[in-house]
Amino acid sequence: TSQSGMKEALDKLGIKTINEGTSTGINNFSSGEILESYSPVDGKLIASVKMSTAADYEKAIQTAAEAFKTFRLIPAPQRGEIVRQFGEKLRQNKEALGKLVSYEMGKSLQEGFGEVQEMIDICDFAVGLSRQLHGLTMHSERPGHRMYEQYHPLGIVGIISAFNFPVAVWSWNTALAWISGDVCVWKPSEKTPLCGIACQNIIAQVIKENNLPEGISCLINGDYKIGELLTADTRIPLISATGSTRMGKIVAQTVAGRLGKSLLELGGNNAIIVTPDADIKMTVIGAVFGAVGTAGQRCTSTRRLIIHESIYDKVKDALVAAYKQLRIGNPLDENNHVGPLIDTHAVEMYAAALNKVVAEGGKILVEGGVLSGEGYESGCYVKPAIAEAENSFEIVQHETFAPVLYLIKYSGEVENAIEIQNGVAQGLSSAIMTNNLREAERFLSATGSDCGIANVNIGTSGAEIGGAFGGEKETGGGRESGSDAWKIYMRRQTNTINYTTNLPLAQGIKFDL
Ligand code: NAD
Repeated sequence: TSQSGMKEALDKLGIKTINEGTSTGINNFSSGEILESYSPVDGKLIASVKMSTAADYEKAIQTAAEAFKTFRLIPAPQRGEIVRQFGEKLRQNKEALGKLVSYEMGKSLQEGFGEVQEMIDICDFAVGLSRQLHGLTMHSERPGHRMYEQYHPLGIVGIISAFNFPVAVWSWNTALAWISGDVCVWKPSEKTPLCGIACQNIIAQVIKENNLPEGISCLINGDYKIGELLTADTRIPLISATGSTRMGKIVAQTVAGRLGKSLLELGGNNAIIVTPDADIKMTVIGAVFGAVGTAGQRCTSTRRLIIHESIYDKVKDALVAAYKQLRIGNPLDENNHVGPLIDTHAVEMYAAALNKVVAEGGKILVEGGVLSGEGYESGCYVKPAIAEAENSFEIVQHETFAPVLYLIKYSGEVENAIEIQNGVAQGLSSAIMTNNLREAERFLSATGSDCGIANVNIGTSGAEIGGAFGGEKETGGGRESGSDAWKIYMRRQTNTINYTTNLPLAQGIKFDL
């Protein structure tokens, strides 16, 4: 079966199957109630973990705080060496971890491997960066003075992650946090707790081999209640939270209430604009992958296609034809394009969205529906659907985390399409399909897309780690991964040094005694 080799993968990652007891994991602070993890692939119980109690939480934070005292003293390039070894361990575990991601979360095996590759890539990026945590030097206005800035380790980074990227998001944060000299406490999604244990077991080996304190990486398990302990904790200077806008608004207020820093990576409502000058073939591939890849459960999934009226029917017909080719089924079987949604609650949200779009006056072009029968026993497999809609519909304004694509028609100039594209509360990813330079540049200009990510002639999903990743408006404003995203994991200090025997004041102020 396509699940073959799963037991070996779980063994390699240190996860006990359900007959073998509860998986504990290394440096995983959890002694509370049982949390069971069911696979959306076949509906079977994979394994169980224990949730963290308030006492476990306290122990985790104290362990992390203790580890920070020594870890911050290790020179950044040596911290980079730890992250390099972590990347090596991920290479050795890519097959097993990719399989677990696919089985526990439901994305295709290729995407599972891709997610682990993203972890390896951020490690490589962070290793180089560990020698480049540069500050600036400035010219002082006072004679015999020198000014410069430096970046110091921040402390404990609390990481709250979503189910849909159950391993990569953690590493985007940890790789940069660790080279920055920080220690991390991670609360993975309660929907993918085994991915958390597997990652933690991998880094724990590296920490042990280097005789470093275990608290550099701590794991706590559970739902929002344990997350709330993290966000309210004044000992945690930075909370990096990935998930829904609903969650982000709560987390942001709690962290701001204690004047902590938060890095928010929240929901998207991503669109591709298709202009009269678009390459239709590329558009269809980009749109279909963007809409149905990971069963529409990427924060960057394509949710809206804004198509010029002159080519609307052509694009629509090509899309409908392409959707007929989609194979829905077990994501561990490489022949399938679309796997399951995470759980039956997600299936309900999907079905509700399709009802809502019709109720608001939309027209279904490709019928949806929940699949049943052999191979679909988990009840989580749905048909990707397409509906014609208006951007103003309430349901179109809302991020439905499922493969539902809305087609929206525009007329006139590209400005009209940009207005529609920007006319939602979220601001994560956006794209334009055009061979017209003016349209492309207009889309990228100050009056163009208002998203954190704006692409030309590629779709909305599939970011590379070299760029800063994140979005504006209700997506939360955070940036992770490449470019200078590392700066949020450090504290900046401005230093002025006087190497004279006088004490001149700034702005020429006289203060004679
Ligand atoms: P979710 O908001 O339900 O949960 C995310 C995490 O937040 C979980 O670990 C959950 O336990 C925790 N949480 C929930 N309420 C909390 C609270 N009050 N305090 C502290 N922690 C709390 O999201 P989900 O269903 O797991 O993931 C899907 C969502 O995540 C989508 O909206 C998607 O767009 C978004 N997402 C965004 C990005 C990005 O980078 N922008 C990446 C992946 C997913």
